[in-house]
Amino acid sequence: MHELSIAQSILSIAEKSVPQNSKEKVVAVSLKIGELSSIETEALLFAFDAIKSNTILETAELKIEMLPGEAVCNSCNNVFHLSSYATSCPNCNSYSVSITKGKEMKIVSITMEY
Ligand SMILES: [Zn+2]
Repeated sequence: MHELSIAQSILSIAEKSVPQNSKEKVVAVSLKIGELSSIETEALLFAFDAIKSNTILETAELKIEMLPGEAVCNSCNNVFHLSSYATSCPNCNSYSVSITKGKEMKIVSITMEY
């Protein structure tokens, strides 16, 4: 399962960013996920809950913000919102488009509390 490995990498990144023996608790991890990244947010939340017990993320909540997909048309240079891969340019109907945004996943912040 793709989302489980993502959840595990979030955990290992969080473990590296929080000092060992820290008295602080991680209360939130904020992510941005591109609309075209093929990550299922529901599955990711489930995987995150499944792996966080007895880790520094035990008290953490995963906050996910979706980033819209964006593409530029190779025929007419129109920039448009793209929510799935099989989308043609709304201006000239060309399928020759280059995706410029929406495939990424990044950790925005890790929030800690005493
Ligand atoms: Zn076009």
